[in-house]
Amino acid sequence: MSTNTKKEIHRWENQTAIVIGSSITGLLASHVLSKYFAKVTLIEREALPKTPTARKGVPQGQHIHVLLSKGEAIIEQFFQGILAELLEQGATRIDTADDMRWFHFGDWKVQFPSGITYHSQSRPLLEWTIRNRILRQPHIHCLEAGNVTQFLTNKDKTRITGVKITRHHQTEEENLLADLVVDASGRGSRTAQWLETLGYPKVTESALKIEVGYASRLYRLPNSSQYPWKTLFIYPKPPQNKRGGVIAPIENDLWIVTLVGWLHDYPPTDETGFLEFVKSLAVPDLYTVLQQAQAQTPIVPHKLPYNLRRHYEHMPLPEGLIILGDALCSFNPVYGQGISTSAWSALTLDNCLHKQHRQSPSGDITGLSRSVQQQVAKVINIPWLLATSEDLRYPEVTGVKPFWMPFLHWYIARVHRLSHQDPLVSLRFLQVIHLLKPPTVLFKPDIIFRVLSR
Ligand SMILES: Cc1cc2nc3c(=O)[nH]c(=O)nc-3n(C[C@H](O)[C@H](O)[C@H](O)COP(=O)(O)OP(=O)(O)OC[C@H]3O[C@@H](n4cnc5c(N)ncnc54)[C@H](O)[C@@H]3O)c2cc1C
Repeated sequence: MSTNTKKEIHRWENQTAIVIGSSITGLLASHVLSKYFAKVTLIEREALPKTPTARKGVPQGQHIHVLLSKGEAIIEQFFQGILAELLEQGATRIDTADDMRWFHFGDWKVQFPSGITYHSQSRPLLEWTIRNRILRQPHIHCLEAGNVTQFLTNKDKTRITGVKITRHHQTEEENLLADLVVDASGRGSRTAQWLETLGYPKVTESALKIEVGYASRLYRLPNSSQYPWKTLFIYPKPPQNKRGGVIAPIENDLWIVTLVGWLHDYPPTDETGFLEFVKSLAVPDLYTVLQQAQAQTPIVPHKLPYNLRRHYEHMPLPEGLIILGDALCSFNPVYGQGISTSAWSALTLDNCLHKQHRQSPSGDITGLSRSVQQQVAKVINIPWLLATSEDLRYPEVTGVKPFWMPFLHWYIARVHRLSHQDPLVSLRFLQVIHLLKPPTVLFKPDIIFRVLSR
């Protein structure tokens, strides 16, 4: 038996796991599973690039990806030294309040050293760096160019026992057996349909229509050191305004510019339309910067129609199946929560497996899927509330609006306005949106006093 010193876990000797999808959720889940399972097979339908380049299966990779402080801390906990590795490869460390100039809710946020930091790099570099760590782990085997097409089950369909796959350029299906299958295949996950064909009920969903469009492009910025910021973010003031834009540094001395529009106000992908959109933002700062910037790539679009949450925690699931990441919940990307929620969910999986292992050293995982889905649902509640409550400021965004939402909007609007001058209020807000503290910290007496008295 091998051991893991951190939590003093002895791996289950014969237990195996399969993870569907080798994007960030799949990679983080594989890392956690490899502490408990003798063998983890990570199945990815694409052939994976050998360099940090964007890939077809993760089209969002060409757009800005902010890694919130919470997610970054968990990823560093999983792979010690990875943040230093990112810096060596050209990432930039950003203090969220000091290095980021953020036009938010009608004015610039106060700039001060907050200590809340994150690293800015391209999404492909982040994924590639994590993947390299994973591929070095002897208990994880990566099967590329294999498309999972259905689950395998026991006779009475109460337990998932593996998956069917087809490899590229082959028509025959293969069966791969495992004690646990984790679906990390992203927003387009087929788990709901596969379960229905096995006789399970349709999973209930929460969906909030936002019709958000992105358009992104890489630039070089001559004399970038002249700017008193490392990231410039212009955010719309809902409901009057629906357009935002950001410029942030990535590796190789490049800068990524991403434009975003809510509710069908999609940023154009032609040269003139793109710049006109930038010009139309609430303040001209990004437009001024782009006057001196040299475009390096074509403009790429991406559309996301709604925030989507699948409530597997509310339905009877077969044993041996766990659904994580965007397959479970995908948010309006503007809030930068996807990877951090995946990381937090992987940490929750770790805690559940640790408990299961103590209860069943022989390797019985009965009850594991249910407890993981319920614990992960609790994790998702916070980013879901943060994302959807902000989106609901637009009257065109329709969805379940709790009776307290107007009060929340009023109160948080005051928090936003105070964040233009008050470092303490701004700090609390940043801690919440970086998922470091629960939203309730905004309702502690020191903040309530400031909100109501000013
Ligand atoms: C435009 C945009 C911008 C975003 N910006 C941010 C941001 O700033 N910060 C942030 O934290 N998050 C952001 N996100 C969200 C983030 O991209 C995801 O949360 C993150 O990639 C985790 O997703 P995932 O690994 O669960 O799924 P995905 O990244 O979608 O990956 C799914 C993987 O599964 C594979 N796959 C799918 N089906 C199969 C199958 N049948 N068999 C085998 N393999 C399969 C795919 O090829 C792919 O590799 C953004 C999303 C979008 C759309």
